[in-house]
Amino acid sequence: MKDILPLIIFTDLDGTLLDSESYSFEDAKQALEIIRKKDIPLIFSTSKSRDETIYYRKLMENNHPFIVENGGGIYIPFNYFNFELSYNRKWNGYIIIELGMPIKKIRELIHKIRDKNGWQIKGFGDMDVEEVMNLTSLPYNQAKLAIVREYDEPAVIHDRDIIPYLRKELLKEKLNLTIGGRFIHIHGDNDKGKAMDKLVRFYKRVNPNIKIIALGDSDNDLPMLKRADIPIVIKRKDGTFLKKDDSSWRISPYPAPKGWACVIEEVLEDLNF
Ligand SMILES: [Mg+2]
Repeated sequence: MKDILPLIIFTDLDGTLLDSESYSFEDAKQALEIIRKKDIPLIFSTSKSRDETIYYRKLMENNHPFIVENGGGIYIPFNYFNFELSYNRKWNGYIIIELGMPIKKIRELIHKIRDKNGWQIKGFGDMDVEEVMNLTSLPYNQAKLAIVREYDEPAVIHDRDIIPYLRKELLKEKLNLTIGGRFIHIHGDNDKGKAMDKLVRFYKRVNPNIKIIALGDSDNDLPMLKRADIPIVIKRKDGTFLKKDDSSWRISPYPAPKGWACVIEEVLEDLNF
């Protein structure tokens, strides 16, 4: 890790850097190249699984830490920071800091709540790859990566009106519900903001003056946007956008991935990067 590190970018993937339907990032390639050349750490912070995130990391030639499953786990490449970190486990060249509840426990609790209340809640753990393909429009190979969950269960629910009641039941079991672009997500006491805090602390040991850009499009991105120096909301395809907390928040002029690229290039220019 180089010493000069005045800026880091945390970004959501689906609907923020990736097209919300086709998952393309074609229109962001140039902006990604600029970021890579300037050595700005670009940190994916997503509800996606580890394997899916690694897939996009490779495609985008990204070598930085990443946050999976709504802040459930932080993956940091071995020796990325030149100081010792405490972590929960190691896997395949990464150290992992776990903030989430193990998926096995989450699924047991969801089944208990579902059966008790007679609600129709179906999580990835109750689906086969074909069903995940249909719900996500992902091709087979990527749906297979998506289904391997560690800390967060994406689920569909027959009736969104029960969400407030479901949320109450989940809270009794120390579970939280987040509404993402396609699914509801059920997870422990983790969110993207808490995971971001952990990582930012490490970066600030390298450079205390770093500025943080964060980009997102959904409710699950709010904890991350609220903590950023420069929060950016990516407009959705239907022209709507996440409610801003503050009028200083930027809104992208287009949806992902073109909106992501435009606003990143604009901000880098404003900051004289
Ligand atoms: Mg999103």
